[in-house]
Amino acid sequence: MSPDIPFIRPSLPETAAVAAAYERIVEANWFTNFGPTERELARLMAEAVGPHHHTSTFANATLALVGALSGALGRGDGTRFVLVPSFTFAAGPQAVVWSGHRVAFVDVDPVTWQPDAAHARALLETVPGEVAGILLGNTLGVGNAAVAEWERLAADHDLPLVIDSAAGFGSWYDDERRVGDAGTCEVFSLHVTKPFGIGEGGAVLSRDAELVAWLDRFQNFGFSPGREAEILGLNGKLPELSAAIGLLQLERLEGRLAERRRVLATYVAELAPLGLTPLPNSERAALGSASLRARDPGQRDQILAALTAAGVQARAYYNPPVHRHPWFVEHDDVWAGGALPATEALCSEVLSLPIHDEMSEADLGRVIEAVQSCR
Ligand SMILES: *Cc1c(COP(=O)(O)O)cnc(C)c1O
Repeated sequence: MSPDIPFIRPSLPETAAVAAAYERIVEANWFTNFGPTERELARLMAEAVGPHHHTSTFANATLALVGALSGALGRGDGTRFVLVPSFTFAAGPQAVVWSGHRVAFVDVDPVTWQPDAAHARALLETVPGEVAGILLGNTLGVGNAAVAEWERLAADHDLPLVIDSAAGFGSWYDDERRVGDAGTCEVFSLHVTKPFGIGEGGAVLSRDAELVAWLDRFQNFGFSPGREAEILGLNGKLPELSAAIGLLQLERLEGRLAERRRVLATYVAELAPLGLTPLPNSERAALGSASLRARDPGQRDQILAALTAAGVQARAYYNPPVHRHPWFVEHDDVWAGGALPATEALCSEVLSLPIHDEMSEADLGRVIEAVQSCR
């Protein structure tokens, strides 16, 4: 039985607007390979983050992560490590392995839910091998308030800092800096489950024009202008039709994000008396869902069961943490990190509630009522 209230209800552009864009693409007879629509999307995404930024769009964020790591760190030979959180989506640590590196899992800060820079400093001393770089995650697309500390850590050790901000296009670190502005580069997903969703898509944003030009070559078979493979590339290009949907989504994005933040504010106000606390800084984020922490694991499990019984689809992101996924359990030679107590505790208490655009009062009320039944 499908739930009455799905976890994700994508909001995509009107079909007539997409049809008109498709007509222009057919007219231009240019369907992919850095066409005018893709170039415009790349330009506008960079402009949305800041005046000094460049974008390399991708077919999805996973390929964008492999590209960003390969470009910023170089392709690894399977010996050097990349620091990465385990409290994240599996694609980040998988991209580390695909780029030829081993994984050193960083614990989270129990208060901010973000990768813990103090643990990373300690790890740099104890990892059984050389460290090639850092893949920071902005937890669930929410800007890490300590990002400047991570930039200092990376600079102190002369390490590239790639940031997986997949769901976070439209989020803020603080009042001055947009997510997309930090580190060596930041990676975004345009998957339909993300707030800036188009179907499948991704992007790398950076102030480093040379890195972005390298990524454009990487995702086009490593080709030089003379169409010869001069670096080890692959095909990761974003087609024109996807880019056209992206342009339409970009126009609507700020308004949609504001609505989503209102839904979060209602959840937080209504559910605080139960002891549920939101992911810090999420009030200024692009929200795919509402992330809350229960008082204890028992309360979390009780709430998930009550939501299911009420026909509401909910999740517990990111549970399990990546080091507990079967492939990583079976391949414990590719990673190090040892105990991650804050990650384990958070995973047992985290709860993700649906947020939709134009979420009706009735739907919102039904979610809240189900959670409140668990006092
Ligand atoms: C969604 C997501 C990805 C993967 O994005 P795709 O575009 O689906 O490849 C990677 N990292 C994080 C943190 C994500 O949330």
